[in-house]
Amino acid sequence: MSDCIFCRIVRGEIPSKKVYEDEHVFAFHDINPIAPVHVLVVPKVHVDSMAHLDEEHEAAMGRLMVAAGKIAREQGCTDGFRTIVNTGRVGLQEVYHLHLHIVGGPNPLPPML
Ligand code: 5GP
Ligand code: ZN
Repeated sequence: MSDCIFCRIVRGEIPSKKVYEDEHVFAFHDINPIAPVHVLVVPKVHVDSMAHLDEEHEAAMGRLMVAAGKIAREQGCTDGFRTIVNTGRVGLQEVYHLHLHIVGGPNPLPPML
């Protein structure tokens, strides 16, 4: 059983402010929010990062994206939101369980791209 921090959050071993859960996806508020809405969406299956995905994960990633859109709407991001997936050292990834940041609110982040 993985002792990865996000696997432990999914299992309820570490408390989190859950905003969504289904059979395959779990979402919770970031502990250090950078915007009024800052939610992390994770697959329940452990994958280290986007760079570790392969064909067996296609369905899980599709479910993650669909859930993320639903969660953002439920969080009130009616005018849109930004999504971030940090990958690896260069991508400034801190937690090596693949996760998608939903960042929203009036002016959630300065333009990057
Ligand atoms: P990344 O790996 O994409 O750089 O970011 C990891 C994110 O996870 C950070 O924004 C950080 O605040 C968040 N984080 C790290 N540990 C915890 C935790 O124990 N609980 C919650 N809710 N968020 C966490
Ligand atoms: Zn994990």
